[in-house]
Amino acid sequence: MIDLRSDTVTRPTAAMRAAISDAPVGDDVYGDDPSVNRLQAMICERTGKQAAAFFPSGTQSNLAAIMAHCARGDEYLVGQLAHTYKFEGGGAAVLGSIQPQPIEHAEDGSLPLAKLEEAIKPVNFHFARTRLLALENTFGGQVIDQDYIVEACSLARRYGLATHLDGARISNAAVASGLDLATLCEPFDTVSICLSKGLGAPQGSLLVGSHELVEASVRWRKMLGGGMRQSGMMAAAGLYALEHQFDRLADDHRNAERLAAGLAEVGGVKVLRQATNMVFLEVPEAHWQGLGEWLRERDIIVSVGSRTRLVTHLEIGEKEIDQVIAAFTTYFGR
Ligand SMILES: *Cc1c(COP(=O)(O)O)cnc(C)c1O
Repeated sequence: MIDLRSDTVTRPTAAMRAAISDAPVGDDVYGDDPSVNRLQAMICERTGKQAAAFFPSGTQSNLAAIMAHCARGDEYLVGQLAHTYKFEGGGAAVLGSIQPQPIEHAEDGSLPLAKLEEAIKPVNFHFARTRLLALENTFGGQVIDQDYIVEACSLARRYGLATHLDGARISNAAVASGLDLATLCEPFDTVSICLSKGLGAPQGSLLVGSHELVEASVRWRKMLGGGMRQSGMMAAAGLYALEHQFDRLADDHRNAERLAAGLAEVGGVKVLRQATNMVFLEVPEAHWQGLGEWLRERDIIVSVGSRTRLVTHLEIGEKEIDQVIAAFTTYFGR
């Protein structure tokens, strides 16, 4: 199967499974798991942050961080299409009593500084207390301009706001921009990093920040049911991913470029954008079902619809890309 729905569909390689099987473990709720501790130390070193905590998912890591920054009745500024706002079940509002203030994205995925400034509420009992700015990088595959990020975070600080980055795919941003994780994380108080996306681990995210903020987030993690025991099994997969599957993200970006170039030649679909490991297509509605089924019959899985996104990952090579282009070509050439 050539599964292009997401970079989360990857399965652990034999070498990763061996790392999992060999992992020294302990009870992480007691802080006793050597593999979890090693993973946390490694990400601190790479991001230049004081402290880190291993979470079962990015959703939980984002939520715990937002709850560490904001109290009941506080507000956070977030993109209208950001994952924490749109794709995490409204967790900040439901479990944190934290009001999101969504901001429209610019074309490049950024949240315009003027709109952010306008949305920050004055201190007055009529308003929720604006406490946090949350950004996302990459956003829809797009690497957010680092100069913009520095400016947005300094604007936030000027108003006394904390800053959080949903860096689910910050590793893709690092590889694509040539900037290291420490540079990309530097402007933020906390950053959440997924191991389960392009890095190819089966599960888990890391939250990094100051000792104080990570400690507060670990308290929320426990309350949210995310205190794990011998999670060194999963941490070992994360360690393996960071050591062996980080630089190869460049292959995914090259393959996405190859895919976009090939699909641009197919009459019938329009390539809207390619950035890092994602390609977005416009497919005429009359073809949503037919194309999806046609591809499925050829062992290719794509969610075809109003927003058709194809994502490359470590199970997709040039050969698979060419098979996908050929399947699109024959479908529209009939
Ligand atoms: C996948 C993702 C998350 C959440 O990660 P899960 O581990 O699936 O909960 C958060 N933000 C972004 C941008 C993501 O793509």
